[in-house]
Amino acid sequence: MALATFKHFPNIKEVRGGLMFVVSNELITDTYLLTNQGELWGKWLADYTNMESAFTNDTWNANPSGLCKAHCVVLECPHNGRG
Ligand code: SF4
Repeated sequence: MALATFKHFPNIKEVRGGLMFVVSNELITDTYLLTNQGELWGKWLADYTNMESAFTNDTWNANPSGLCKAHCVVLECPHNGRG
């Protein structure tokens, strides 16, 4: 989200973000600097080739995770388990 903020609002040089986990009552915070965006993009660009290939070939393979059963709305997916 910080990277998106930097792209959409070029005057912003620093983003202070936080994730709040309401069940465990934890708040994890971090600060992201525009000057570090090259390093921050590195994490996401590693997956970019796969996303680009999926888009080009219109092939969207299932990517099961621990979120499937609890959160995914694609009930027809065999990994969902609620369909
Ligand atoms: S259940 Fe949803 S999140 Fe899990 S693999 Fe299928 S489509 Fe992806």
